[in-house]
Amino acid sequence: MTDHCVAKRLKVNGIVQGVGFRPFVFQLAEKFSLKGAVSNTSSGVSIDIEGSPENLASFERELSEKSPPLAYIVEISIKTKAVKNYVDFAIVKSKGQAKMSTLISPDVAVCDDCLGEMMAPDDRRYHYPFINCTNCGPRYTIIDGIPYDRPKTSMRQFKMCPLCQAEYDDPTDRRFHAQPNACADCGPHVGLYDNRRNEIIPHTQAIKKAADLLKAGHILAIKGLGGYHLAVDAANTDAVKQLRRRKLRGEKPFAIMSYDLEGIRQYARVGSEEEKLLTSMQRPIVLLKKKKPSAISKKIAAGNNYFGVMLPYTPLHYLLLEHGFDALVMTSGNLSEEPIAIDNDDAFNRLSKIADYFLIHNRDIFLRSDDSIVRYVAGARRFLRRSRGFVPIPVFIKNEIPAILACGAELKNTICVTKQDKAFLSQHIGDLENLPTHEFFKLTIAHLNRILDIDPEIIAYDMHPDYLSTRYALELPADHRIQVQHHHAHIVSCMAEHKLEDAVIGLSFDGTGYGTDGAIWGGEILVARAHEFERAGHLAYVPMPGSAAAIKEPWRMALSYLQNAYGSNFCNLDLPVVKGIDSGKLTVIAEMISKGINSPLTSSLGRLFDGVAAICGIRDRVNFEGQAAMELEMTALEGSDGVYEYGWETDGVYRIFTAPIIQGVVDDVANARPIGEISSRFHRTLICLFTELCVIIGKERELNRVVLSGGVFQNSILLTGLTRALEGKNFSVFSHQQVPTNDGGISLGQAVVAAASIKR
Ligand SMILES: [Zn+2]
Ligand SMILES: [Zn+2]
Repeated sequence: MTDHCVAKRLKVNGIVQGVGFRPFVFQLAEKFSLKGAVSNTSSGVSIDIEGSPENLASFERELSEKSPPLAYIVEISIKTKAVKNYVDFAIVKSKGQAKMSTLISPDVAVCDDCLGEMMAPDDRRYHYPFINCTNCGPRYTIIDGIPYDRPKTSMRQFKMCPLCQAEYDDPTDRRFHAQPNACADCGPHVGLYDNRRNEIIPHTQAIKKAADLLKAGHILAIKGLGGYHLAVDAANTDAVKQLRRRKLRGEKPFAIMSYDLEGIRQYARVGSEEEKLLTSMQRPIVLLKKKKPSAISKKIAAGNNYFGVMLPYTPLHYLLLEHGFDALVMTSGNLSEEPIAIDNDDAFNRLSKIADYFLIHNRDIFLRSDDSIVRYVAGARRFLRRSRGFVPIPVFIKNEIPAILACGAELKNTICVTKQDKAFLSQHIGDLENLPTHEFFKLTIAHLNRILDIDPEIIAYDMHPDYLSTRYALELPADHRIQVQHHHAHIVSCMAEHKLEDAVIGLSFDGTGYGTDGAIWGGEILVARAHEFERAGHLAYVPMPGSAAAIKEPWRMALSYLQNAYGSNFCNLDLPVVKGIDSGKLTVIAEMISKGINSPLTSSLGRLFDGVAAICGIRDRVNFEGQAAMELEMTALEGSDGVYEYGWETDGVYRIFTAPIIQGVVDDVANARPIGEISSRFHRTLICLFTELCVIIGKERELNRVVLSGGVFQNSILLTGLTRALEGKNFSVFSHQQVPTNDGGISLGQAVVAAASIKR
């Protein structure tokens, strides 16, 4: 031991304000008998600290290891200072006009401490559905300005009672500066209404009554954290069917919520990684393999081997689910394809034809945020949707870049704004084909710019001339506007996540993206850098008879691939997909294909999946994007073998023939090979084919890194198989872990491409 005293200044950057960080530092200093002070600064928190070197070392270690749950430390810089002989350790007010940090925490689940208090009959917040503290509760969705203080949140209309205020002011309290702090005396309340907005029961009794109504088979609209849910008892098939009818949602799976892990294990497999995801404070929807049979209605996720499941994340959810349900359907409170409702008036307007009753509250949601969806595949968490719980945590990129707004794609839209080395991806906005979603798109851009204090100088957007996001970008006043090719943006978004520079081989596989030649790309092998790309290979073009109709009706793609493989003789093939179409229609489609009438060319791998699914008789028409491809994946049998023939031609660019693959599939269908084996062979064929081409291109270009991106990589067989096969050939393989591989992650790539293009 030494009594030698040293002094240091620690600067902590990241999400360290409004998350209980200063009280944590205070308690840590006390624990190690250290003196000094902590204060907020423009970029985070500054700590002056003095004491013995041993204690200082322990302090530094625990500072990063034991920080509060909502804190997100990016970096800690440490400098030695002169000893000032502080007499104590103090939390001091922010100096001068120091601007608050612009990093804001996402909304997270109620913490165990709060949950314990809520369930304790002698606690003053017993059964209070809005209990929260510095470690939990709403953040992003209740803010409409910075700095993050109560007057800039939807809690401003609630004046804290003396007890709550005392907690809020006490640095040693778990609710010190917890902006949403409240209790039943001073905070928000729930109420139960019928769909004509007559209040049935107020306050705490409302939740018990709501549970009774759900048990009786009614549909309830329930106001949550980032928006309304529509809820029904997931074990009640009639209620589930009714919800599908009223919400105009045909077959797309519904997410469900159960009270605890034990409940979930009754109907789904929960591995240790899935358990971590389910119980994480972000509480995403996690895709879990179904157990069969189970009490859950078959109408929840027909044709799918998975359920999308989440645990409760608000106190209200806990109070509702403790009334004994196997699970509740908790699907977005909207009419199919529209944005989720957040406002009470809006909810009654839009949802009263769907919901029988409304369980609402009077804490406003300023910005909607849908539930996030994740799945554990190939050794990592993968996002299908990155929204509540994760936004607005930035993706930290390698270099500082100018302030950019990237407008995203058309489907599963998110936008991205950048500041220094941080790229902020918005919450899930949705498909920009209807007016309300387009409004939400504009609102989100304005909101993010405001709360992050960003004024974009560069606009990045997709090359597709008809995307609403493109038109929006072209109407904005801006000095710099940069058009980014869709599949290039996919690859660069993944490169940005992994901080990759220099050229990589990019496998960019999805359904639709506008190519530089005006064709619809989607089965692309690129040699990509941030600022440029070369198209090294792609699936050979086939026509899409009927254009967009071919996306909704995979049988059209089936005919196109068949024509490509067999010529006009395809009409005589003894296949259900051919025989099922009346001869007049068949002739028309054959003519459209051969003459190129309303049949744009595509190299899309997503369409090839659709075509093969239709040839296998899995599905002629889809209810939602990617359904046929997903069902083809779901049927694949593990352990079967065989590969279809494949080939390509090249003149510097590899054009991959689909004909031999299609002929192989057709022969197998004709020979009555089980669909599961055909699906498995088809997947294996793609894995072999693309691995072989990567080896060839890698040798030609001296590249040893492969980046995988695009919606097709939601297919876990392909993602797992290609990763393994490429690694077997000594490639380093990179796939998405921080942003979705589908178009939800593309705005990140657009921003980074734009920054790289400007720099040159
Ligand atoms: Zn809490
Ligand atoms: Zn209170």
